[in-house]
Order: sequence, then structure tokens, then C-alpha cells
Amino acid sequence: MIHQPIKPAVVGSFLICLLLAAAGYMIPGENLHPFSPALIQMVRASALVLALILLFETILHIQLLNKILLGMVLGVVLGLQFGAQIAEVKPVGTAFLRLIQMIVVPLVLASLIVGTASLGDPKKLGRIGIKTFAYYLSTTAMAITIGLLMANIFQPGSGLSPEAQAQLLQNYQGQASEKMAQMGKTSITETLLNIIPTNPVDALSSGKMLQIIFFAIFTGIALTIIPENKSRPVIAFFDGLNEAMLKIVLIAIKIAPYGVFALIADAVGSFGLDIIFTLLKYTLVTTGGLLIMASIYPFIARTFSGISPYKYIKAIRPAQIIAFSTSSSGATLPVTMEVSEENLGVSNNIASFVLPLGATVNMDGTALYQGVASIFIAQVYGIHLGVGDQLMIVLTATLASIGTAAAPGVGLLMLVMILKQVGIPLEGIALILSVDRLLDMFRTVINVTSDLTASVVVASTENQIQPPEELRS
Ligand code: ASP
Repeated sequence: MIHQPIKPAVVGSFLICLLLAAAGYMIPGENLHPFSPALIQMVRASALVLALILLFETILHIQLLNKILLGMVLGVVLGLQFGAQIAEVKPVGTAFLRLIQMIVVPLVLASLIVGTASLGDPKKLGRIGIKTFAYYLSTTAMAITIGLLMANIFQPGSGLSPEAQAQLLQNYQGQASEKMAQMGKTSITETLLNIIPTNPVDALSSGKMLQIIFFAIFTGIALTIIPENKSRPVIAFFDGLNEAMLKIVLIAIKIAPYGVFALIADAVGSFGLDIIFTLLKYTLVTTGGLLIMASIYPFIARTFSGISPYKYIKAIRPAQIIAFSTSSSGATLPVTMEVSEENLGVSNNIASFVLPLGATVNMDGTALYQGVASIFIAQVYGIHLGVGDQLMIVLTATLASIGTAAAPGVGLLMLVMILKQVGIPLEGIALILSVDRLLDMFRTVINVTSDLTASVVVASTENQIQPPEELRS
């Protein structure tokens, strides 16, 4: 493609915005100038975002995915450089997040109704369901085992000095008790019964994913049983709605570079790097375990579909980046579905069933993190966990991941349940709270990667995948 030469006016505007933003962020002391802090904040944040728009839309001629990647890198750099100040750009990220969240409920409802109806046979659905659950349970158990192994080998809890421990416990006590109070007290029977909605409209309006899935599947099945002249218009309606929602994903993804930039800058700006050093060993062991998991999925995908691992990683990257910057597999779902169908060639009826279910029940990254976190806390408190206790952790974490929302920080709440089960002091979560936001980003990437791999595995065994030619090894 031949590009028009960049107009000097564009370069000029870009430089002015950049200078304005730089001056705004670097001028120290409010009493050096007559402007109100609120005005300065608004001007410098707008100038920064405007500079970014000019850079991405008119100066750099690169692919969308590279723009998103660059947005992410710039977010990290500016977040580190300007710390909490950079939170001013967050509204751009929130707008992007809300835009993709807006699509989740109608997309899941429409695509699952159409997907189930087009399968045409409830038996087929049962078979797909069994395969999906078999994949989810086995990868979750594998992930948590890797987490436990890593924590037993590297002993992250042994590196924490008593002073650091006391300080963490003191600083995060309040937040820890808040989390403990948030932990629901519903029993397993109730959780399972809750999957059946008493009012589907309520389920839709409050975004109760498992209830929506249940209702959509039932409606889909019913549509295959009633006379065709009655079902046809309903299916056509939901099919159209599904198409329209996927179109919105494509539009939303165009502003992803800015959204990702703002979300990452805000997250990194609020971390405070020193705290990461205090918990360096724990952070490294967890991210190391997650990396091991990340390297396994492309090979699982190749075994079933023949897609080259390297190309697989490239094809799923958009969903991974959105997962990283939003820390929510639920919010990422529209992008995950788009990637599965468009980039990997998974059929709509498999993607629409496996992925919404996966976003809710399959959390490999979270399970792995819970394995490391429980051992870490036990080590700090000098509690020895035997094989029996560790098996209990595997079981509880696997079960706990079912029925919990796919939202930021949920993994931490589930951890409270696990600690309780094996008798580790619950206040121990205060020790890991400070790095939780960071680890949430990494574990959500793994959660989403696992869901995508499930869609490839199930679709391959059902002959419902047609990967684009360029993905083959
Ligand atoms: N944020 C994760 C997700 O949405 C859940 C968690 O580990 O907190 O997948």
C-alpha cells in the first residue's frame, strides 16, 4: 500500500500536543503557575490522548494489532513514569471497557440461541457439553498442580522478612477483612440451583452469565422442536442480532489502542513498584507458573487442529491483550468470540457454547495463582501442608472456579474459600493484596487463552473448525 506523505500540519499538531502534555506532567508545584489543578489535569490528559490519536491514525501506518501492542507498551512506560497522576486518562479506558461490556449479554444470548438451534440435535449438544467440561476440569486441575509444584519447589514464602510480613499485614488488614466479608456464604446446592433462572429478564438485566446460558440453551433446543414456520423468524431475529453485536466488536476494537493504553497506564501507575520487590519471589513464582501454562496451550491446539503454535499465539493475541488490560474474562468475551470464529475458524455453534461457559467456569490462571498463594501464605505462617491438604486445594480450587463471576479480583475471593477449607489463617490474604491487581492481569490472560484453546479442541473433535490456510504449519 502506498501511503500519502505525512502533512506538516499533522506533525506540527502532534508535536504541540506532545509538548503540552509533557509540560503539563512535568511542571512541578502548583504555585508556580496561576492555573487551577483541575484545568491542568484536563488539558494535559486531553493533549496526551490527542497526541496518541494523531500518532496512531495519521503518522504511523501500522496494523491495528501493532497499534494495540504499542498502546500497551506506552501505557506501561507512562504509568511507571508518572505514577498515580496518569489516572487522569482512565476515562478513555473506562469508555472502551463499557463499550465491550455493553455487547456481552446480547451477544451471549443471541449467539447461544442460534448456535444451539443450528446444532439441531440435543444429543449432539450433550456430547459437546461433556467434552467441554472434560477439557475445563482437566486443564484447571493441571494448572493448579503446576502452581502447587512451583510453590513447593521455589518456596516463595521463605523469602519474606518478618518486618515486611508485619508491615504487609498491618497495611492491608482493612482491605483483607473487606474481602472476607464479601465472600458469599451460598452452599454448593444453592449455587447449582441458582443456575436455573426464575426470571430470565432479571438474569439478562443483571448479567448473570450461567443463568443466561441456561435460558439460551433451553430456548435453542425448544426452537428445534417446534414447527419450522414458527422457529424460523425467531432464529433469523437472533441471527441478525448476533451479526450486529459482532459488528460492534469490530468497531470497538478500532479504539482498543487508546482504551488499552489508558487502562494499562492507570493500572501500572497505581501499583507502586517497591511493593513488587517485597513480594518479588511470590510474584515471580506465580508469573513463572502462568508462563509455563501459556506455553502449553499452543501445543494442545496443534495436537487437535494442526495449527502451528507460533501462528496460534499470533492469532489469539488480540484477546490476550484485552484480557490483560481489562483483567476480566467476562468483558473480554466479545473479543474472544470474534478471535475464535474469525481468526481460528471455529464454527459459531461451538464458539457460542464453549466460550461463554468457559469465561464463567474455566479459570486456569486463577486456579494456578490460588495454588501458589495458598502455599505462600501457609509458608509465611509456618504451616506445613501435607499431600492431603494440597489435594484438598486442587479439589476446592477446581470446584470454586465454577459459578463465580469472570470479573477483576474474583480469584482473591475464591482464595478465601480455599484457605478456609485447609485451615490457613484468612488474614493471610493481606500479605498478597498489594500485588493482586498485577497478577490478576496475568491470570486473566491465561483464563482467556484456555477458553480459546477449548473452543479449538472441541471444534476439532466435532469437525467444526476451518482454520485459515495461513495458520497451518
Ligand atoms: N479476573 C479474572 C477473570 O476475570 C478472575 C480472577 O482471577 O480474579 O478471569
